[in-house]
Amino acid sequence: MSGVREVERQLIGDIWMSDEPYLNLLHLCDDIGSRWAGSPSEHAAGEFIQSKLLAYGLENVHLEPVQFGAWERGEATLRMTAPVERTFSCVALPYCPAGEVEGELIDVGDGEEDDFARLGEAVRGKIAISAAETNPVGRPSGKLSHRSDKLARAVAAGASAFVFVNQNPGLLHITGGIGGPGGKPAPIIGIGVSWETGSAILRLAQRDGGPGRLALRTGGRFFDNTSYNVVGDIPGSRWPDELVLAGAHYDGHDISQGALDDGAGTVVGMEAARALAALPREAIGRTIRFVLFCGEEVGLFGSWAYTAAHAEEAARTRFMLNLDTAGRGKGGSESLMLTGAPDLIPYFKEHALVARYDYPVTHRFQSHSDHFPYALRGIPTATLSSPDDKSTLVGRGWGHTEADTVDKASLRGLQMAAVLTARVLFQVAGDADFPGRRRNREEVLEQVREAGLEDRLGRSGRLDLAGA
Ligand SMILES: [Zn+2]
Repeated sequence: MSGVREVERQLIGDIWMSDEPYLNLLHLCDDIGSRWAGSPSEHAAGEFIQSKLLAYGLENVHLEPVQFGAWERGEATLRMTAPVERTFSCVALPYCPAGEVEGELIDVGDGEEDDFARLGEAVRGKIAISAAETNPVGRPSGKLSHRSDKLARAVAAGASAFVFVNQNPGLLHITGGIGGPGGKPAPIIGIGVSWETGSAILRLAQRDGGPGRLALRTGGRFFDNTSYNVVGDIPGSRWPDELVLAGAHYDGHDISQGALDDGAGTVVGMEAARALAALPREAIGRTIRFVLFCGEEVGLFGSWAYTAAHAEEAARTRFMLNLDTAGRGKGGSESLMLTGAPDLIPYFKEHALVARYDYPVTHRFQSHSDHFPYALRGIPTATLSSPDDKSTLVGRGWGHTEADTVDKASLRGLQMAAVLTARVLFQVAGDADFPGRRRNREEVLEQVREAGLEDRLGRSGRLDLAGA
């Protein structure tokens, strides 16, 4: 046992004395750029990460190509045509089709199920407008719709287009992918606007009693492209065939630096890899594999592709730790949210006690990041998060806007998340009695149903993957 404590001291001290994650994040953001899926900057980032994992002494380091349907931004314009003429700034949401639409505006509230139920046929043929993202202020808890859910409801109700409004002030456009599986174009035009633009549209539209009219025009290009997952291993000395995975997505949105989402999680994973690879190999029980995913922001392309290409690994993957939103802010408020394995809550609460690192542990079966292709296959997963410095912001905060920039990250925040990441991985990889177990198809389908994800997964044809 004392041996384990010694190893942990080395791990923590090493990370605490290192500025490597911050330097890596500066390079990713200031030199390489936004890392949009399939772009030259995403490719450059993949090569940079590969070179670093090699330098840190990981094994089996390589790039894995992922073919996908890519989208490239074109022009987008937004005009109010009645009751007043006005032009507003907007961005097309990724995978928005190119086209033109003019029509009456309809405020669909928060875009939740009950909003669309209340409006019924009134939505047909109109341009819907609502807050873009999760947990709208003032909604009862449990109402946590993603923009893709809101869009699907609008399409089902017959809307002709969707205007998504940022929930936070600051003249920041909100973005986020709306494409179908494999990079299919969205069925209707979807654009993102700032909180101020959304407020002005709703205010001006009411001038003569409403409803107001908008005209939208979008460009954009669809084509086949290739991105790369980056893989690297620290081989286990006791159970080398069993895998403990850590993942983060290194791609970002094209309108931002993607510093917090998820440049920060990427460099946190790289730093944990560096520190763990520096340990004596006999200290590592199971093989710890790092996968830096491409194409998360456009539909989890990297993680869907990885799990499909390595289906035989599912049976020997004991745990998957996702680092999307890890390393943001000033550090000290890290938390762990399990997906698919609520039975592991006591295990990690015990770890938090023993590790003297009092991180909260919760469970939610949520589908919007790279852990999900694993959770759907029944593998226990968790997401390690650090909160943004956003005391006055809601929802995604700076994420998915131009303001997701590297000035909002700090070395200490990255170190704290990297320390917890390394300790969690070290613990799970080294515990002979790790209780995480794979769910079978029936159990996963039950979780899918409880989370209300059956329809969406059915539409995308992914329900077949449950427990597979
Ligand atoms: Zn992300």
